[in-house]
Amino acid sequence: MYQKVSVLIIEDEKSIRDFISKTLSSSEYKVATAANGKDGMALITSSLPDLVLLDLGLPDMDGLEIIKKTREWSSLPIIVISARTQEKEKVHALDAGADDYITKPFGTNELLARIRTAIRHNNRLVDDGTNSNRPYSADGLTIDFEKRRVILEDKEIHLTRVEYKIVSLLAKNSGKVMTYDTLIDQVWGPYADDNNRILRVNMANIRRKIEANPGEPKYIFTELGVGYRMLEDEGLAGGY
Ligand code: CA
Repeated sequence: MYQKVSVLIIEDEKSIRDFISKTLSSSEYKVATAANGKDGMALITSSLPDLVLLDLGLPDMDGLEIIKKTREWSSLPIIVISARTQEKEKVHALDAGADDYITKPFGTNELLARIRTAIRHNNRLVDDGTNSNRPYSADGLTIDFEKRRVILEDKEIHLTRVEYKIVSLLAKNSGKVMTYDTLIDQVWGPYADDNNRILRVNMANIRRKIEANPGEPKYIFTELGVGYRMLEDEGLAGGY
């Protein structure tokens, strides 16, 4: 049985709503739209979309409220559509449970890639877990989670325990942004100092070990003011 993946767009700006809607419809997605938060919430519960694209600045409510309410009962992927100036809002949205964000203005390819990644990750979570320990592999870098080994171009890379923990978290969420706070929480625990200096120091060391040019990383990218995003696993990039 073939069913189209359904995407709900909650966005009050008509031009953006129409652009996304057209792009997704021509890429075999089933699309529903809402121009305000109230209609959006109603559609989330009535039509159970596979993914939501959510503008944070809605006329009748803060998009953050929609994320919080939805997360009370559902893990459906939510991608936030944000303006370049909404750095803090973006981080709050991710910490409240959004899966990723896309910054206006964005192109077709970026939009489709974000959607595919979010849906794949969600499928993997819903999966029976058999794939969760499959090695990460992208562009010459391999991470074997079972043996806790990191191989770059056939050479083993020696990471400290903390460095390995950071890299493996990013690799298991490859293609998705992870906020500084999420990483700090998961590596050092919820009571750790939320100052991200120690994370940045570790990242500098990691990059020295795995990047040919740490100033222009090809594996782990900085999302300024938000967190890090690791190059998508090639084993996942092929489709879903
Ligand atoms: Ca808006």
